[in-house]
Amino acid sequence: MRYLPLAFDLRGRPCVIVGGGAIATRKARLLRKAEARLIVVAPEVGEELKGLVRESGGQLFQANYRAQFLDSAELVIAATSDSSVNAEVSRDAQARRLPVNAVDAPSLCTFTFPSIVERGSIAIGISSGGAAPVLARGIRAQMEALLSPRLGELAELAARFRDTVKQALPEPARKGFWEWVFSGPVAAEVEAGRAKEGERLLHAALAEPDTRSLNRGEVYLVGGGPGDPDLLTFRALRLMQRADVVLYDRLVSDQVLELVRRDAERIYVGKKKQFHSVPQDDINQRLVDLALEGKKVLRLKGGDPFIFGRGGEEIDKLADAGIPFQVVPGITAASGCASYAGIPLTHRDHAQSVRFITGHLKEGELHLPWRELASPAQTLVFYMGLTGLETICHQLAAHGLPASTPAALVEKGTTREQRVVVGDLDSLPRLAVEKAVEAPALTIVGGVVGLHKKLSWFEP
Ligand code: SAH
Repeated sequence: MRYLPLAFDLRGRPCVIVGGGAIATRKARLLRKAEARLIVVAPEVGEELKGLVRESGGQLFQANYRAQFLDSAELVIAATSDSSVNAEVSRDAQARRLPVNAVDAPSLCTFTFPSIVERGSIAIGISSGGAAPVLARGIRAQMEALLSPRLGELAELAARFRDTVKQALPEPARKGFWEWVFSGPVAAEVEAGRAKEGERLLHAALAEPDTRSLNRGEVYLVGGGPGDPDLLTFRALRLMQRADVVLYDRLVSDQVLELVRRDAERIYVGKKKQFHSVPQDDINQRLVDLALEGKKVLRLKGGDPFIFGRGGEEIDKLADAGIPFQVVPGITAASGCASYAGIPLTHRDHAQSVRFITGHLKEGELHLPWRELASPAQTLVFYMGLTGLETICHQLAAHGLPASTPAALVEKGTTREQRVVVGDLDSLPRLAVEKAVEAPALTIVGGVVGLHKKLSWFEP
């Protein structure tokens, strides 16, 4: 390690920035986050930078740089566009034993700025020691994804209770208590956006020496998206990393499943058409039972849990049993398939509305409001519509849509095996058989399908 990351307390301390342009402003913003007092030296200074100096209670010198400007400095940044001025600033600062950073000139620096991941008072610096700044930025992006945006709130909560906990608990109990706070239900509540409940639990735990008895199970109902793991949300990924056990469907892709914490127990509860391998009631009950055992249960579903996903039924049971849960939306098949097939679901020239419809047959029949569906200028998206495809196309035409209305099937959308079959209401059922289209597949009907030819971009 060539560079040692240190955490400086700059609050109220005079920091000199030489330069008045965009880079100087960027550094000034950063120093202001640490509440530094800014002293800016430059013949010309932008408005934002002027404002930052003012609010910091600092000083602005609209002048050419001279060494005297460093007299009161505790930290120096050379951020002019003139490398000879930057070199002069660096020399002067080093002569005065002041830490100095010159923008884009490692040899003139006695310290560098790491890439920073910030969550309130939590700050993580990532430094490559100048070897590979782009790599450091990439690492930063990964950490941004993994750390809850509410980590700062958690740190604030801890700060507020610090003294109380200190008085109430001697070591080593205190350390154990804080570990429980940051890894248990308090953290989970805060991260789920329920800070009040988190605080209540923390209170309760202080009165209850055996915190283990407060460890409750909970359920995360998470949308795993249509297949491409890149389409997961940050929150989905975080909860997948935290789960003790995962119950997943057939529609959850292998690559998505791979992102679940390695040692989590995996339970397949998928249904196959005609084989209801695990009845819905059993799944609902199992979620309740596992949570009552104190487990963190991940219910991972394809697409979005609230769109043809029975998510509502599953959390209904949890609500009855008083088990905490949270719901994480996923990219639904319609959004995912449409994007990856280059078929905009709405378009000013073709469709002013879009409808998501289940094409699932009940006892071999489809009871749908065909007349409404056959109205013009809307896009229809049928989920589970492969078996009933012939009926769907026939009924839409019979109720007034022209047989030449464009229609497409997207098979295994967003995955490496994606196929898009395009035809019209007349030809699509035949094409589906010819090309042996398999589930999962989505049917899209409407003028927007005609745009696929030009707008398709994804090549699996
Ligand atoms: N909750 C899911 C939908 C479950 S219903 C969601 O929001 O996407 C199951 C149907 O979704 C399938 O029959 C199919 O029509 C559609 N589907 C799901 N994933 C798909 C994919 N990758 N490609 C095409 N269709 C998909």
